[in-house]
Amino acid sequence: MRIKDIIIESVLDEAISSSSLYEPVKKAIEIGIQNSIGSLYDLKGGYPNLEEKFNNGLNSREMRVELIRAAEGPDSRWNMADHIAMEIRKTLTIELGRNVVRSLTFVDLGDTTHGDASNLKIRINSKVVDNIAKASVTTVMDIVLDNYGEGELTDGLWFIIKSIGNGDRHYVSYLLDDNEKRINSIASTVIHEVVHVLQHTQQNTAGHRNHEYRSYLGKKGEFPELNAKRKRTPEEDSRHYKLYLASPQEMAAFSHEIAVKMANDFGLRDPRNIEEFNRAASAIDAQSIIDYVKERTDSYIMPQERKELPVFKRYVKLVYQELMRYIDKQRERLQAK
Ligand SMILES: [Zn+2]
Repeated sequence: MRIKDIIIESVLDEAISSSSLYEPVKKAIEIGIQNSIGSLYDLKGGYPNLEEKFNNGLNSREMRVELIRAAEGPDSRWNMADHIAMEIRKTLTIELGRNVVRSLTFVDLGDTTHGDASNLKIRINSKVVDNIAKASVTTVMDIVLDNYGEGELTDGLWFIIKSIGNGDRHYVSYLLDDNEKRINSIASTVIHEVVHVLQHTQQNTAGHRNHEYRSYLGKKGEFPELNAKRKRTPEEDSRHYKLYLASPQEMAAFSHEIAVKMANDFGLRDPRNIEEFNRAASAIDAQSIIDYVKERTDSYIMPQERKELPVFKRYVKLVYQELMRYIDKQRERLQAK
């Protein structure tokens, strides 16, 4: 092992914990959604045609299409992703300090990538936000149609939008419930990429300007070569994914995602009291961690393969460590209450 490898290894072994960021990030996404719906109120009065169409009676899908068309039109440029990105950036600055994450933006990254981190900059795929935007506007329309009759639809629409912008719990909860899976998915992608930024920060401090990206599996040079290939055959693709899941950098990031998912599923996030929390925490055992790692690494990392077993074990260890850190933090928080 070269000196450089040893340094990178020890840097990555250090506690890079960010699972406890999950809650604040999720909250930030929710506020971003709420604010961006609230901002539609600016359209009021500016679109007589829109209001006329509503009063003539459209179904919720037609109304959604009309409203989004007006919102995203040349005069308005409504963009939910901007609102969400701004809230996440604020939260990361509060939680990690200024200049840790230099930028966070939503960009169309195609169908397979959730996000990426290049040095200290994070990009998150905007596709999920597009779906949240559509679903949210549809929900707003449904609320309007459920609560108002013909002739009151436009007034009702502006009232509901304004209420959501002001944080009306009842209406906002409709929006969030309808989008829960999507919100969770963005939050875990953000956590994953923040872990990479923290890795990069530590490597920068250690003087490694080029962030060597490698894999525990594969022949020498195979992983970088597959990474560089833009078009891969399906066989190369699945080979690449195996090596990717066995990259030390990715293993740290995915372990955080797995730990967050377990914390959610086992009820560690929102316990009513310390007793309930302790009960939930004690339900997590080695077998459950193994099961979650298996589920995430699917058929790509096989513990029955001699070379892959250490990778699998390392995942289990990392998830365990991260869960312990998360549990300690939560316990601290509950005891402080
Ligand atoms: Zn990654």
